[in-house]
Amino acid sequence: MQLIVQKFGGTSVADTARIKMAAKRATNTFSNGNKVVVVVSARGKTTDELLALAYEIDKRPSTRELDMLLSTGEQISCALMAIAIHSLGFPAVSFSGRQIGITTDSSHTKARIVNMDANRITTELSRNKIVVIAGYQGVDENDNITTLGRGGSDTTAVAIAALLKADMCDIFTDVDGIYTSDPRIVPEARKLTQISYDEILELASLGAQVLNVRSIEVAKKYNVPLRVRPSFNDGPGTLICREVGEMEKIVVSGATVTKNEAKITLTGIPDRPGSAAKIFQELAEAKINVDVIIQNVSSNGLADVTFTVLKDDLTLALETAERIKNKICATSITADDKIAKLSIVGIGMRSHSGIAEDLFRTLADEEINIQMISTSEIKISCVIDEECADRALIAVHKAFKLDQA
Ligand code: ASP
Ligand code: MG
Repeated sequence: MQLIVQKFGGTSVADTARIKMAAKRATNTFSNGNKVVVVVSARGKTTDELLALAYEIDKRPSTRELDMLLSTGEQISCALMAIAIHSLGFPAVSFSGRQIGITTDSSHTKARIVNMDANRITTELSRNKIVVIAGYQGVDENDNITTLGRGGSDTTAVAIAALLKADMCDIFTDVDGIYTSDPRIVPEARKLTQISYDEILELASLGAQVLNVRSIEVAKKYNVPLRVRPSFNDGPGTLICREVGEMEKIVVSGATVTKNEAKITLTGIPDRPGSAAKIFQELAEAKINVDVIIQNVSSNGLADVTFTVLKDDLTLALETAERIKNKICATSITADDKIAKLSIVGIGMRSHSGIAEDLFRTLADEEINIQMISTSEIKISCVIDEECADRALIAVHKAFKLDQA
């Protein structure tokens, strides 16, 4: 007998027919002799619709009241799921986050779980019931309802799986797994059988669309085996787990491009200790997240510093850069928001050499200029012209044979 957590996303519980399908999956798993905990999202676009209602009334709704409102979406689907399981002739009981003691901090609309209580769940499981839980919600220490941020039901599911030491946490969704690249750009992209927590965290742009990033962090911390599976067929999906020996053999597991960053260059900075510290201190104080950074020093003792920020932060970052420029006596500022960041990720990079060279050669053969480079132990990223992004991704996917199993 195993303990399985099954999480169904919005599309998998969008209407009563889908809810019945999901219920059937839960009862099949239960009939096979397993203990089953189901975690559900709100139906279809419910969360968006509720948000739209609030903003129709007030442009700046209270976040406490937003949480009160948004948490109802999951409460509806969890009750309907329990009813659907009953209709199939099986015992089930549904709980809100509060009823199973999910306590969070007080950051409304983006709360973090601080505590959970397994008692009520394990009691019902030992009474042979399927336990259905509303995802995405908890209460703070003053008993105010909170929500965990968009896509937060994944985090609820993984946290419950960690708490109960579940044998598997299955995330049922509307795609059939995680791919080597974005299939909309690279038609040859291949579904991965498995991938490590670290790789999927680095490939956030691939994983995040399918899975909430925070949930992967929790899964990694507590070593929860996680599978992203299709809800519309019996496909095995993609297993996300701690790295195992054989994964090392695969040098590159995935390739992505992101187009959500812009770069800013400060030129003519006097090359002396403290300049970089001043620049990034000001940016940090303005709560701007900086990603890639490069510095060049020219022969006349002046340096240029280029860094990337999220496009959404560009206006604020430019205002901040203007202030910095005066403080550090830089000569000018330029910005470019037509850039893309191409990344390849793989834990095999730790033990193989020549990967960077292969990546740069591939881009050179495509006559694509590399503007910036950054690396981590398992990732290499190049900032390139946005116009070349898709072509670069296709070429790199092919060069690293990501289309071949
Ligand atoms: N219903 C919430 C959302 O749409 C949480 C979730 O689906 O995971 O973001
Ligand atoms: Mg989701």
